[in-house]
Amino acid sequence: MLPRRRFLQSLALPCFPCLGATDPDARYTIEARFYDKLPYKKIKCKLCPRECVIDDRERGYCGARENRGGVYYSLVYSRVAASHIDPIEKKPLFHFLPGTMAFSVATAGCNVNCKMCQNWDISQVRPEQVGATYIPPKDLASLARRNNCPSLAYTYSEPVIFSEYVLDSAEAGRAAGVKSVVISGGYIQEEPLKQMCRRVDAIKIDVKAFSEKFYKEIVNGELKAVLNTIVLIRKSGVWNELVYLVIPTLNDSDDEFRGLARWVKAELGTDVPLHFSQFHPEYLLKNLPITPVATLDRAKAIADSEGLHYVYIGNVPGHPAESTWCPKCRRVVVERAGFTVRGLHLDKGKCRFCHQAIPGVWVT
Ligand code: SF4
Repeated sequence: MLPRRRFLQSLALPCFPCLGATDPDARYTIEARFYDKLPYKKIKCKLCPRECVIDDRERGYCGARENRGGVYYSLVYSRVAASHIDPIEKKPLFHFLPGTMAFSVATAGCNVNCKMCQNWDISQVRPEQVGATYIPPKDLASLARRNNCPSLAYTYSEPVIFSEYVLDSAEAGRAAGVKSVVISGGYIQEEPLKQMCRRVDAIKIDVKAFSEKFYKEIVNGELKAVLNTIVLIRKSGVWNELVYLVIPTLNDSDDEFRGLARWVKAELGTDVPLHFSQFHPEYLLKNLPITPVATLDRAKAIADSEGLHYVYIGNVPGHPAESTWCPKCRRVVVERAGFTVRGLHLDKGKCRFCHQAIPGVWVT
């Protein structure tokens, strides 16, 4: 059997030596912004920590970038493989414009290979293997406005690999009064991340486990790089929330929950929302069960006991930990049921009952 990457390479369309009119995908193709030119028409991609070194007419690991004669190109600019209008709570972002909708888009490809991926049909394929709609950045902002979405969300697959599109769309959105949020695994280099932080309004990072072993075996990435990303986002001042998908037997030990909570408190403070989400068997981990609610309760109890103020439980509709509780008076300030906001008891970002400031982005 061919290894997966080799198999995908064998399916690739021929490369075009130049961006001429014969290229059917030319409108989706733009020169990449983060790479170095090397001798013999090779390039080194500087977008994510993988730092692929790529020969002429080859692609990077993510399958979304291609070397054409020593110039590196993104093949997914404005090439939208999935779009939906979602509640912002579905991202999940709980301290960012609660109760509003986000115009959400993704392109094909990803720079990691999570065995539990929920969107593998677009993340684990090459751009030409899925249908796409051409939506340039300005049109994206207009679509969001027309559909009463105060924000654009770059989500489903991995926005890092379509960074050029994210950066330009976020700028166009800002000019049109539309905010931008990024939903990412956080496997990105410092310079593209800094540029992203300057343009977007919130970033949610999936911390897939708190062990390098898990990242190596289940994700094919590196925890350390993701933690560096989160610290940098926090320093930049962009609103940030964290999600941890709790997978039975793989990342559900007390030690891991405690290690994560202590790291968050030490590096980011107690106010960064941390969501423990229920796993449902997907993709290559169909052999594992759904996470018991008792495990999620245990994770939350540990994070609470370490002093984090906003610890949520996700994918369990009706759980009290879906709502935002004021850390001072212990009353509910944002009442949720699933992705629906049932009550908002905030006044200019403060608890309506005791006036405690609740961190987040609360007004449009
Ligand atoms: S973004 Fe893609 S091409 Fe660039 S280093 Fe990462 S996996 Fe490789």
